Amino acid sequence: MAATPQLLQFAREQLFPTYGQPDVVMVRGEGPWLFDSEERRYLDLSGGLSVNALGHAHPVIAEAIAEQARRFGHISNIFFNDKTTQLAHELCARSFADAVFFANSGAEANEAAIKLARRYFHSRGEARHEVVSAVRSFHGRTLGALAATGQPRYHEGFRPLPEGFHHVPYGDIDALASAVSSKTALVMLEPMQGEGGVVLPPPGYLEAARRLCNEAGCLLHFDEVQVGMGRTGKLFCHEHDGVIPDMMSLAKALGGGLPLGALVTKRDVAEGLVLGSHASTFGGNPIACAAGLAFLRVVDEEGLVARSAAIGERTLATLRSELGGVPGIVDVRGRGCLIGIELATPARAVLDRLRERRLLVSVVRDTVIRLAPPFNIPFEALDLGLATLVEVLTTRA
Ligand code: PLP
Repeated sequence: MAATPQLLQFAREQLFPTYGQPDVVMVRGEGPWLFDSEERRYLDLSGGLSVNALGHAHPVIAEAIAEQARRFGHISNIFFNDKTTQLAHELCARSFADAVFFANSGAEANEAAIKLARRYFHSRGEARHEVVSAVRSFHGRTLGALAATGQPRYHEGFRPLPEGFHHVPYGDIDALASAVSSKTALVMLEPMQGEGGVVLPPPGYLEAARRLCNEAGCLLHFDEVQVGMGRTGKLFCHEHDGVIPDMMSLAKALGGGLPLGALVTKRDVAEGLVLGSHASTFGGNPIACAAGLAFLRVVDEEGLVARSAAIGERTLATLRSELGGVPGIVDVRGRGCLIGIELATPARAVLDRLRERRLLVSVVRDTVIRLAPPFNIPFEALDLGLATLVEVLTTRA
């Protein structure tokens, strides 16, 4: 391996400067721990942006990847294969859905949802093409998913975006009711916002969205890219509210650390996309699906959805008791392994101080520290991380 200063020089000069990384090169991981090129050990509560639900280098996932790589890595979707088919079956068996389109990322799964909704109404001869989504939502960076994303700062410099997208304040039933019309094809909502600041839907909001879509005759989509696959203490976040959408997008944790996205729907909705109308060369790659199957197997065997819920309760209890009343702390909220600590001021400096203390977290909407620990993190490691976090947050200048 090249020396660290040289790697950093290559990284700074040759990678696009779109991420703002610190001067650290990570070389390996083990469970909740990451090690850099200087053999410094970090506790990773950033979870690879909510991807690493079983931590790093999980042996069952590593073995499933190696085993599939020895059989074949890629054959494209012009043939069926066992792993992709089995994962589709698992998703259908565990959800409201009975049809799956695999993609490589969250944005692509949402892109497929937008295209499917338009095509579904097109095939029924209905002139509906509009998409209603929420302010502060995040649905991805491809142009369609970006148009659905309700954060103007991400639109800057990329106009014109696709037409027919409307944004309404998250949680506001009246605003949603006035935006949905006979032209609406799709209402796209996160059943809990992640990038928007770890925001829970107000009670009754998702249910009202379901009712409005039924009345208007449009489709309801839940973007569970970040909050699905057990992250919030239920396998799918909409289970907290008991509201069933027409379609749902998944990614992040789905592929056990490999790039994988999925759009899952009822069969009659899926029929909107006919032969040749949508495709992805790598979508549902057998190695990624083998990793996804291994992830689900471990989740089942070790009861990790319930454990995700228990981690959330422990984290919220600790942080609320230790940070309640501390100046500069606005709120502590979340569910399961997705917790937000909202500060009164930008959190960037806190992020840097935490990294100096070898604790990795991420920041959303500038002021919210987001914790996305693995579902199987030992409680001792979690408690250690929370103690460091509390210490740094209570001793800010
Ligand atoms: N949807 C949600 C809710 C997300 O949180 C994200 C990413 O953070 C995306 C979509 C985009 O996913 P990807 O980065 O895999 O395209």
